[in-house]
Amino acid sequence: MAMTVHFPFQNSYSALPDNFFARVAPTPVAAPRLIKLNRPLAVELGLDPDLLETPEGAEILAGKTVPAGADPIAMAYAGHQFGNFVPQLGDGRAILLGEVIDRGGLRRDIQLKGSGPTPFSRRGDGRAALGPVLREYIVSEAMYALGIPTTRSLAAVITGEHVLRETALPGAVLTRVASSHIRVGTFQFFAARRDTEAVRRLADHVIFRHYPDLLHAERPYHALLAGVVGRQAELIARWLLVGFIHGVMNTDNSSVSGETIDYGPCAFMDSYNPAQVFSSIDEMGRYAYANQPRIALWNLTRLAECLLPLFSDDQEKAVAEAQDILGAFGETFSTAYQTGLRKKIGLFRERNGDDALIQDLLDAMAKNQADFTLTFRKLGDAAGTADARAQFMDPTAFDEWAKRWHARTALEPQTATERQAAMNAVNPMFIPRNHRVEAVIQAAVNDDNYAPFEELVKVLAKPFDDQPDYAAYADPPLPDQRVLQTFCGT
Ligand code: AMP
Ligand code: MG
Repeated sequence: MAMTVHFPFQNSYSALPDNFFARVAPTPVAAPRLIKLNRPLAVELGLDPDLLETPEGAEILAGKTVPAGADPIAMAYAGHQFGNFVPQLGDGRAILLGEVIDRGGLRRDIQLKGSGPTPFSRRGDGRAALGPVLREYIVSEAMYALGIPTTRSLAAVITGEHVLRETALPGAVLTRVASSHIRVGTFQFFAARRDTEAVRRLADHVIFRHYPDLLHAERPYHALLAGVVGRQAELIARWLLVGFIHGVMNTDNSSVSGETIDYGPCAFMDSYNPAQVFSSIDEMGRYAYANQPRIALWNLTRLAECLLPLFSDDQEKAVAEAQDILGAFGETFSTAYQTGLRKKIGLFRERNGDDALIQDLLDAMAKNQADFTLTFRKLGDAAGTADARAQFMDPTAFDEWAKRWHARTALEPQTATERQAAMNAVNPMFIPRNHRVEAVIQAAVNDDNYAPFEELVKVLAKPFDDQPDYAAYADPPLPDQRVLQTFCGT
């Protein structure tokens, strides 16, 4: 008896009113071929990885066959792109197949990205090129392994067709898994149309899905805003603590569940530079590394504006309440960020002067182009701190700081071994360095060679392990390997 892939779909989003989405099936492609299946994630979702690896599985993951129980839709949303409001964006190249309840009881969206045009495509072709698909696969799974809330990647498939960008490139489809794909921009879509009932329906849906504890809160919509503010503040702190730069923090790329979403020209920085920008389209540095907290708060303020009519009929009162809730962002962010930094330098308890000690290290790192990841990782080495010192152009800048750091750590009862273990658990050895990601994409696109992709994904799955066989993956780029710009690739 032939077995077929079974997705136990539930479709709570497509049960919402018709103006929340457009029903649209993926466009079939010529010759799908599975490049990568995330087997552990398939199992987590209650799917059979062996069946997904069959030709029938590849056809589903490429959008050539729609599995039973799916109710394919493109979601409607609006958004501020680089500060400019666009009242209608929507899924222009993504189609939500449906939701499954995973083994932990969580509802997860299964979405095909690059599966053909939708009513929201505008002038786009609805397709994705192989390079950006591999980039999203690598970086989202690396973020997951780093313990940072994120959408996941279930599969990458090449379509057997070309997509036309500046040149003809191999086309691909990414299967993305998210706790939902609801964005700040989804709220803006309805708020811009003054459709308060739709805003309320959406808010209720988000509470049901992401903030079930608030179902019976006294003021559920206030609590919802506070919840999103809290999760975004924590998320951005986590980004900064690993040197992640999202690159396009538009409100349509900002998830109300608090997951990192829409990996485009994102990048991890090598040497520490708070003003670092990689994205070719971010000419003003709006989304620079150190601007990310400020931008997140700006995006949350846009969300708050959408919710005002649900707060109170008295607009002045509603605004005051929203401001009060938004006011918590700074404190939540700073606490998460400073606590994270204290852990990164191996401090177990907080003392006066710690913030200054940390800031002085960061300043010296910036001045000396120290590698962000390796400085922290090597600082924890039992073998001494010679490798951390070597990250600094002028190593004496490190020496001065290290004296103060040794004096500070001596005040704590933990042993050096305990400190090292604690530091190694928060300071990764391996991040998806841009030059590695680029090399992997080149091998795949130019030579149909996926061995480098497989190896990189494998190394990044255990970012906190030493993995001596793969030590070279920890190295920063040589001067001629440095990637200066990243691209959306849409
Ligand atoms: P992004 O920059 O990926 O966040 O996308 C911004 C908007 O452009 C979203 O509405 C996307 O659906 C749409 N978009 C991006 N690339 C394409 C494409 N190739 N075809 C159609 N729509 C696209
Ligand atoms: Mg987007």
